[in-house]
Amino acid sequence: MSQGPESYLDDSKQLTDDSTFCFSCTPEKKCFTRCCYDINLVLMPYDILRLKNRLGMKSGDFLKKYTSVHVGFGSGLPVVVLKMDGPYLKCPFLEEGKGCTVYDARPGACRTYPLARMAKRSKDSETVEEFYYIVREPDCHGFRDGKEWTVREWKENEGIDEYNEMNDIFGELLQAKTESGIETLNADQIDIFYMGCYDIDSFRENFLEGPNLERYMEDPEVIELISKDEKELLKYGMRWVKKKLFQGGCLACAGSCSTEK
Ligand code: SF4
Ligand code: SF4
Repeated sequence: MSQGPESYLDDSKQLTDDSTFCFSCTPEKKCFTRCCYDINLVLMPYDILRLKNRLGMKSGDFLKKYTSVHVGFGSGLPVVVLKMDGPYLKCPFLEEGKGCTVYDARPGACRTYPLARMAKRSKDSETVEEFYYIVREPDCHGFRDGKEWTVREWKENEGIDEYNEMNDIFGELLQAKTESGIETLNADQIDIFYMGCYDIDSFRENFLEGPNLERYMEDPEVIELISKDEKELLKYGMRWVKKKLFQGGCLACAGSCSTEK
C-alpha cells in the first residue's frame, strides 16, 4: 500500500463501481503484514481524526508522537506523514503476529489498497467523478486465488465512502489553492492550514472555545452542529481554511470580508 513512486499502479484500465477484480488478504498469506513496513503513508485530515480518537489522544499529541510534517515541494502546503518505527521501518500500529492494532480506524489508503482512487470535481459542479486503478505491489500475494469483488463491494466492505467524502472536501481546498494562483504560504498561513485540517482539537479550542470573533458571526445552528459533531467540525475547519487562505474572506460571512489573506 505504499504511496510513492515505488507503487505499481496499473493505469492500463480505469475501474468504475461495477468493474470487477480479484483479491484476498488473509493472515494465512505468506506476505501477511509485509506491506505495513517502509511505507510513505501520507495522512489525510480524516485519517488523523479517526486515529487520534482510536488511540484516545488529542490531535496535537497524536501528530507529535506519530507523524512528521514537511511542506510539499509542489503544493507548498504542509503534508503529514506517518513515522515508521525502528530499523525495519515498521508501521507503529502493526503488532507482530497480531496485525493492525488500529484496524477499525486504519487510514483510507490502507482500506483502499489494492485500489487507488482518482477523483475529479468539475469547477461548476458539486459532483465528484471518481475511478480507480489497481495497484500491483510485486510482493503482495493478494492477487493469487483472490475472491472476486466489484469496486462497489470493496468500498462497502472496507468502509471507504466516508473517507472519500472527507477527502473530497480536502480536495476542494487544494483546488481552491490552485485556482487562487497563490504559490507559497507564509509561516502564519501554514499554521492556519495545519490547525484547520490536521490539528482538530486545537482548532476546536481556538475557534469554539477561545475569544474568536468569527464564531460570533456564524449561524448559531452551525455552531451547535460543529460543537457536537467532530466530523462536522473537521468539515468546517477545512472549509474555513479554504475561505480564509484562498478565497479572501471568512467562512462565517460567506462573502469577501476583509480577513487578512
Ligand atoms: S496480501 Fe497484500 S495487502 Fe494483504 S498482507 Fe499480503 S501484501 Fe499486504
Ligand atoms: S495502519 Fe494498520 S494497515 Fe495501515 S500500514 Fe499500519 S498496520 Fe498496516
